[in-house]
Amino acid sequence: MPQWFLRGVRRGVVTTRYPARPDPSAADLPTPPAFRPEALTRETADTLVAVCPSRALARSGFTMLLDLGACTACGQCRAAAPHAVVASGEFELAATDRASLRKRIPLLGEAAL
Ligand code: SF4
Repeated sequence: MPQWFLRGVRRGVVTTRYPARPDPSAADLPTPPAFRPEALTRETADTLVAVCPSRALARSGFTMLLDLGACTACGQCRAAAPHAVVASGEFELAATDRASLRKRIPLLGEAAL
């Protein structure tokens, strides 16, 4: 059980100092993926698209498209291709512009083939 919870119950304070200070428990949160473009091929991208349950991933030619507004940070893409996908560690994804949540990742692994 997190210490902040027990301290809050004892003192009657139930909030943390976030966002003034980063909360250490944030390191345990699931976060959307980050991609290693040099490890991405069309085949790998298609695998990632196929395993994504929320359709946050798509491929267009030599570009993979990530919609962070649809991603649930489930980690299935990372499990399917750990050589090409890592956890971003970024969970502060609020945006006023929906388009800013759509990312384009070049498939640079194709150049190495
Ligand atoms: S973390 Fe889950 S929802 Fe997000 S892109 Fe990967 S497979 Fe899709």
